[in-house]
Amino acid sequence: MRMLLAFVACAAVSFPHTACGARAVENDSMNGLAERYVKLVLALGQHDADYVDAYYGPPAWRKEAESARRTLAEIDADAAAVQNAVAAARPDSSVEETVRLRHEYLMKQLGALRARVSMMQGKKLTFDEESKALYDAVAPTHAEGEFDAILAELEARLPGPGTVSERFDAFRSRFTIPKARLDATFKVAIEGCRSRTLAHLPLPAEESFTIEYVTNKSWSGYNWYQGNYRSLIQVNTDLPVFADRAIDLACHEGYPGHHVYNVLLEKTLVRNRGWIEFSVYPLHSPQSLVAEGSANYGIDMAFPMPERLEFERSTIFPAAGLDPAGVDDYYAVLSLADRLSYAGNEAARRYLNGEIDADGAARWLERYGLYSAPRARQRVRFIDQYRSYVINYNLGKDMVARYVEAESGGGTDAARRWDVFTRLLSSPRLPSGLNQ
Ligand SMILES: [Zn+2]
Repeated sequence: MRMLLAFVACAAVSFPHTACGARAVENDSMNGLAERYVKLVLALGQHDADYVDAYYGPPAWRKEAESARRTLAEIDADAAAVQNAVAAARPDSSVEETVRLRHEYLMKQLGALRARVSMMQGKKLTFDEESKALYDAVAPTHAEGEFDAILAELEARLPGPGTVSERFDAFRSRFTIPKARLDATFKVAIEGCRSRTLAHLPLPAEESFTIEYVTNKSWSGYNWYQGNYRSLIQVNTDLPVFADRAIDLACHEGYPGHHVYNVLLEKTLVRNRGWIEFSVYPLHSPQSLVAEGSANYGIDMAFPMPERLEFERSTIFPAAGLDPAGVDDYYAVLSLADRLSYAGNEAARRYLNGEIDADGAARWLERYGLYSAPRARQRVRFIDQYRSYVINYNLGKDMVARYVEAESGGGTDAARRWDVFTRLLSSPRLPSGLNQ
């Protein structure tokens, strides 16, 4: 509570610098609507345990949501009223871009909240309708033939008995991080991601995170943002963790991924501007595409090739007790397999549209996505839980990559790319705002 008063005081001080009179009134009315939005997200969280991914606003608001337990119909009616009020408060085109983005953000996040309510009330959407309504984007479709061509290349690269998936799994298993070395390997990976991020992007001195190893989850890693620049990062050890996952997870969950995105939103929007809506993060909302997309693109930002190969050879493989001589071969195969990532979206699309059942989805993932049988089952569990959220990872990455590369002039200047990337992570920009 004390922390919140500090935020508000800070905001009150900062507004007179930016405007007076009409602009200050505009801010006040938007702040009132933002508060109602936060309370709506917390209210919906009472009906869906996954919905509120992070919240560090006033604790009393969460308690209020718990005791009021508003019905879905009440939540929808209030969300419609807030949406109308936000629409009526549209800023004119002369105001600062961040203020215009804030307005669009609230409109779209409220729209997604209402779509989620309607789904929970029984409304059926196709996969593409759902991803558009919740995540402000639609993933492209791909025919089996496109994946077959990539699989043929992999088949030639991985000779031997069994299907391509089995051969890929056998190949990848040679690069498993032994459980006893997992923590030490993650620690050097995080340090590598953190130092490369800090070289380009300043973070508050007090930022930190805790890492935990967990089991029985549908995901491989998770960042739980706690507020006050702190995160809890969990790594799932149900299945063997392969060497490439150390850098991938450390960048994606930590630096410059989810942890950094949340820290920058807290610093620039919640603390500096007093925009309380950014103290809550509803999982099924357009913000997730930017979160997942930037976390995945952030891996390439921190470790562009061939620097990544060098770091794997010098640091990650030795920490994991693996022979660094295998690095080039391993990453050549992985970069081919990565081109199959959209096969996962196809499996989810067909499964959620009712064209195939859970077994069919698992078989599709094994055949076209190169998932081993247990990983395919884990992925179907993920699709059951998070549904069209799957597009946020690969489509999100591609959208963020296109945006950052276009905005930074498409050259090789890393400083310009980091600058655009940092501004994206510090802003309310949503997926449709990446397509300009
Ligand atoms: Zn993520």
